[in-house]
Amino acid sequence: MIGIEKYGVYLPVKRLKHSDIYAAIGLPGRGGGERTVASFDEDALTMGVNGLYRAKIQEESHLNGLFFASTTNPYLEKSSAALMAETLPFEPKPDFTVDFSNSLRACSNSVLLAGHTIARTGRKIAIAAADIRETNPFTADAVGIGDGAAAIVLAECDQPVAELKFETTFSFEILDTWRKSADQFLRMTEPHFRFKYGFSDVVTKTFTNFLKSAGMTPDAVHHIAINAPNAKMLLGMLKRVNLSPAPNTLRLYNEIGNTGVSFGLLNFLAELEAAKIGENILWLDYGDGANSLLFQKKAEIDVPQIEKALNEKIYLNSYDQYLRLRNRVKTEEAVFEPFTSAVMNFREKAQNYALMAQQCKTCGDVIYPHERICKKCNTKDNFGLVPIGTEGKIFTFTREYLFPSPEGVTAAASADMTSGVRLFLQITDSDYDRIAVGQTVERTFRKMHDAGGFHNYYWKFRVMG
Ligand SMILES: [Zn+2]
Repeated sequence: MIGIEKYGVYLPVKRLKHSDIYAAIGLPGRGGGERTVASFDEDALTMGVNGLYRAKIQEESHLNGLFFASTTNPYLEKSSAALMAETLPFEPKPDFTVDFSNSLRACSNSVLLAGHTIARTGRKIAIAAADIRETNPFTADAVGIGDGAAAIVLAECDQPVAELKFETTFSFEILDTWRKSADQFLRMTEPHFRFKYGFSDVVTKTFTNFLKSAGMTPDAVHHIAINAPNAKMLLGMLKRVNLSPAPNTLRLYNEIGNTGVSFGLLNFLAELEAAKIGENILWLDYGDGANSLLFQKKAEIDVPQIEKALNEKIYLNSYDQYLRLRNRVKTEEAVFEPFTSAVMNFREKAQNYALMAQQCKTCGDVIYPHERICKKCNTKDNFGLVPIGTEGKIFTFTREYLFPSPEGVTAAASADMTSGVRLFLQITDSDYDRIAVGQTVERTFRKMHDAGGFHNYYWKFRVMG
């Protein structure tokens, strides 16, 4: 059967309270909601990689395809999926890499097409979805929007977590939310128009058509996951089809916000975690029409990820801090340009993207960064590559306050990795005042800078728990 073998959830740890947004634009605070905020060193591609790593994709020995869905790809010309494949610590890399974009339904589109490919070829395909959509500063648009990523591995397998049972798809054109190719900020039409002629109408029709084509009654759908533009529209739509929301339905809307292409998948995974074995989960993905995908839960989930990701958070102390993190305020680091080159980037792919260490074929010593001569036995150019490991323990660390950073501090640590390598990386998204020797750190993929006219990616540490 074709189904989801495993999955991963990545939410940025930074949170901004809705009340801080309202206070900054001079409106009285409403409700107690909050949103996720991707940091200055994140983009859709880095969040997608972190989603894939949470899905333990690094432990795969072979993967045929990697699909990436996003409306905020860091490159307009150049595949994000191809770059993401280079971060995997095994060979051969997935040969079928595809970017799905331009629609909020890009993620379910990629799942549909992955399902068809697997049915024909028996391949195994990883799918990541991520978005960072920017909104006009000092408007309420930032409320209800969030940043986040999720990933699944779809394959022909005997014991998936959830089996893909049925699908329908429906295309429909409307100016609902959009960005022109040169737009930095999200544009939206008037909410009543969006609800009546867009979201509510399209999703209701898709739901009705789904029931008819699948020959199912509404009570056979035990869980429903929908990427509504906001909670109000979701409740209005559910009322139209006589469904009452499940207790946890609004949680992601209130705690992270609509995360673009990944939002439908995140809602689906939350329902999958809540479902019992044998129950049906319908994922209705809205955007220029709608897709319906019916899954049936087949196995217990060892480590549920949604709750963990929701609980890992660091609050921003103001709306100003949010603007600084999103590079909306000119600071010193904007003029800092380190040396880099496309050739260097190409040569060091295995070292920098996949973070592979060298292992000396003569004495077995493990070395990072890469060298030509083994420091232990002096053998020249005789190395294999081994994964460096995803976790480590801090051996020593430093905090630097002079180097320009939107956070005011740049921390770095040497950590002893599971492979035996002592790895030196910057630290991000942590409580910088409480860094200590012996703490466990995990690797997280980040954007280092934009020097050379391209995005320079590498890994950082994040202090866990
Ligand atoms: Zn050696």
